[in-house]
Amino acid sequence: MKTCRSDLAGAIRETLTMGQVVRRYGFEPNRAGFIRCPFHRERTASLKIYPGGKGWHCFGCNRGGSVIDFVMELYGIGFAQAVVRLSADFGLGLTDHGPSPSARAKAQEERRRELEQIERLRAEYWDMAGVHLFLHEYVRRYAPTREEWGRGDIDPVYAWALQRLPRVEDRCEALSRELMENGR
Ligand SMILES: [Zn+2]
Repeated sequence: MKTCRSDLAGAIRETLTMGQVVRRYGFEPNRAGFIRCPFHRERTASLKIYPGGKGWHCFGCNRGGSVIDFVMELYGIGFAQAVVRLSADFGLGLTDHGPSPSARAKAQEERRRELEQIERLRAEYWDMAGVHLFLHEYVRRYAPTREEWGRGDIDPVYAWALQRLPRVEDRCEALSRELMENGR
């Protein structure tokens, strides 16, 4: 029976997420999705794990690629060997028919969760951007005049909006940074 390695490689890239693969080989990504790079010496984690099957990139040594490239680098093995190894380690079944249905379902569920998380971030970003616009406009429009300041006649919603604005701005910035990092 002829085994078509390139079809299997495609199935592996579509099925496994980088998160699954690095955890399987003993790495735990931090909250921002970075691990310490095993391919160059470093103290701080600069190898980014992208969600949803988008692979990895090390900002320290500039290596990167797919789950298969990672395993090739990690074990110093060739493409075909890495495909076989991933297939075996994840029980995908090295056949012409690609991964076994249960392994595929599990991996696809993982991938779906990662993409949902990105969608949640995106939705929150647009919510916060709307709130930011509203607060900014309120602060602009209802700022007290010098006389009103003097009298202590300050619109309570203005005061509330002014107090809230920096936190909303910080959150917007954090969300947009996180989206950019994950949206390669
Ligand atoms: Zn590196």
